[in-house]
Amino acid sequence: MPPVLLYYAIPAFVFLFCLEAWFSYRENKHFYETKDTFSSLALGIGNIVSGLLTKALIFGLFSLIYRFRFFTLDGTRWWHWAIAFLADDLSYYWFHRSSHYINWFWASHVVHHSSQKYNLSAALRQTWTGNITGAFLFWCWMPLVGFHPIIVLTLQSASLIYQFWIHTETIHILPRPIEFIFNTPSHHRVHHGVNLKYLDRNHAGVLIIWDRLFGTFQKEEEPPQYGLTSNIGSFNPVIIAFRTWTDLIKKARHAGSFRNALLYFIKPPGWSHDGSSLTTRELIDEYERLHPDKPVR
Ligand SMILES: [Zn+2]
Ligand SMILES: [Zn+2]
Repeated sequence: MPPVLLYYAIPAFVFLFCLEAWFSYRENKHFYETKDTFSSLALGIGNIVSGLLTKALIFGLFSLIYRFRFFTLDGTRWWHWAIAFLADDLSYYWFHRSSHYINWFWASHVVHHSSQKYNLSAALRQTWTGNITGAFLFWCWMPLVGFHPIIVLTLQSASLIYQFWIHTETIHILPRPIEFIFNTPSHHRVHHGVNLKYLDRNHAGVLIIWDRLFGTFQKEEEPPQYGLTSNIGSFNPVIIAFRTWTDLIKKARHAGSFRNALLYFIKPPGWSHDGSSLTTRELIDEYERLHPDKPVR
């Protein structure tokens, strides 16, 4: 089992979020809410525990795939790492985008979006079920091409470390070249916004160029409202971790047919067989039908 870089960064994460919470308190900014913060911390700890249990299995699977590799990119040359970084970041983009478009993945990822606050502690608010429901599938192609499993797991950790600092309202806009290339606090605030024009935008990990390339980029143009279009309404970490799963199972059981039941897990969040709830696309279409002179994006 390789050392997971992310775990070494935890003391720095805790120090920085305490610093931000103190700044927020001193300046009366209301970035934090006590119950919400404890809930984020508990979800972060649960994520570490589930990671300890599952990362070894994923490493084993990647090692098995690596035996059938096309090339050998074992990290002994600097450019192995450079290409691996791009490959990892691209994998992250599609994993994250799929997490917003397919209920099966959304039911895990929803945890990260469940806070109505936007602060460094919200970065720690992570799923407990992501690894066991197949998030790793998006990276399986990397050991097959020939990237050593240690490189893949190290870069996954590095990406999550990078994404910590962008969960803040204390940094507004950075110089233009940085905002053009990298995922920044401004771009990621958009990602956490439930304003119609912000829904399902900016799925990047480190490089925002993927969103620009694949047509999912949205600039921060108005103050974001944080959370979910339909908030979970609980600070209990167990409820937050499993609510969307139990909701999906309930909806599937009452779907009327096996086909509809299956569709609940494949379709985007908000999809319903009877129109009782709406997807992002349907919400936008509905708004634009009512306001034909005001396109959302
Ligand atoms: Zn997301
Ligand atoms: Zn985030």
